[in-house]
Amino acid sequence: MAPKILPPGSTIGILGGGQLGRMTALAAARLGYQCIVYAPDDESIAGQIATVYVQADYDDALALEWFAEHVDVITYEFENVPEATVLACEKMKPVRPGVTPIHFAQHRIREKDFLRKAGIGTADYQPIYTEADIEKATALPGILKTCTDGYDGKGQAKVATRDGIKAAWEKFGRRECILESLVDFQCEVSAIVARGLDGTTRCFPIGRNEHRDGILRTTHVPSGLDDAVIKKAEAFGIKLAESLDLVGLVALEMFVTRDGRVLANEMAPRPHNSGHWTMDACATSQFEQLVRAICGLPLGSVEVLAPSRMENLIGDEANDWMKYLADPTARLHLYGKSKARPGRKMGHVTYLT
Ligand code: AMP
Repeated sequence: MAPKILPPGSTIGILGGGQLGRMTALAAARLGYQCIVYAPDDESIAGQIATVYVQADYDDALALEWFAEHVDVITYEFENVPEATVLACEKMKPVRPGVTPIHFAQHRIREKDFLRKAGIGTADYQPIYTEADIEKATALPGILKTCTDGYDGKGQAKVATRDGIKAAWEKFGRRECILESLVDFQCEVSAIVARGLDGTTRCFPIGRNEHRDGILRTTHVPSGLDDAVIKKAEAFGIKLAESLDLVGLVALEMFVTRDGRVLANEMAPRPHNSGHWTMDACATSQFEQLVRAICGLPLGSVEVLAPSRMENLIGDEANDWMKYLADPTARLHLYGKSKARPGRKMGHVTYLT
């Protein structure tokens, strides 16, 4: 049977209220869709531009029921929406991508096990759940990361010895952790892959990413890397989307080692910061591609329209909006957040180079 198409005029439900939801809602509006955003936050920058903003906790069964009743399809804009919430939604309406990608993306050991099983290379890693695990640790020097709730470099510590692991593990409150060996990379890249309702996949051109203090700062497209590396990164991204049997978008962040190997670091089953360049420099933006995928529309072209460099605006950097507006090569995006805390992503600029 042909997959059911949700035509323009249908309503998309978005779990999560941040900038990724906001930009998804903007792309959806452009194609004539409505969006209802569901999040617990007092201030939701996605809710600001949605048809309706449902401000409710993720375990509020009544609110979820109302939400599901008023939408045709549900997606999420961040992977830490509780699994139970996604499961509850799945009973009422299609959730794309569903609960499986969330299950793996929410826990770093599960995630790495899944990647390995799918035939996607990773750095060496081992679970650090108990003191006995520390005694057995060999992936050194390494990075100790909490298995859950870590993002933008939070809940991470570089460690060189077992004593170092112990100290970091204590600092993280003896929570479940993963020890990954430290990768001596030449650069970091990401693949963003869309998979449609009919199983068609399309990978956006690989972006080369620069991080500072664990936070993405810059993405360059084209990446300037060898064809063989690009092909490997794309193949890993597509393999991931297929292994997850996902409908929607998935991003895979990877390291490129100095000897040209590609190792997966982490996945995100949603639009990704390293794909923001697509809004200004690609035939289809990653947000539009997500809308197309989950509504059963044909996927859009991923042709690059111009070489670009995307820079995140973090904290006070967004106050320089006048400077970016005055630059004819810059395309400014501000997320409408009222407070510019240090480390907070306030917007981004894409330079068409
Ligand atoms: P993550 O939260 O896992 O995405 O890590 C944030 C950033 O820390 C990455 O983008 C890398 O720059 C760095 N990083 C994480 N894991 C490793 C690793 N195993 N080896 C080297 N650098 C890493």
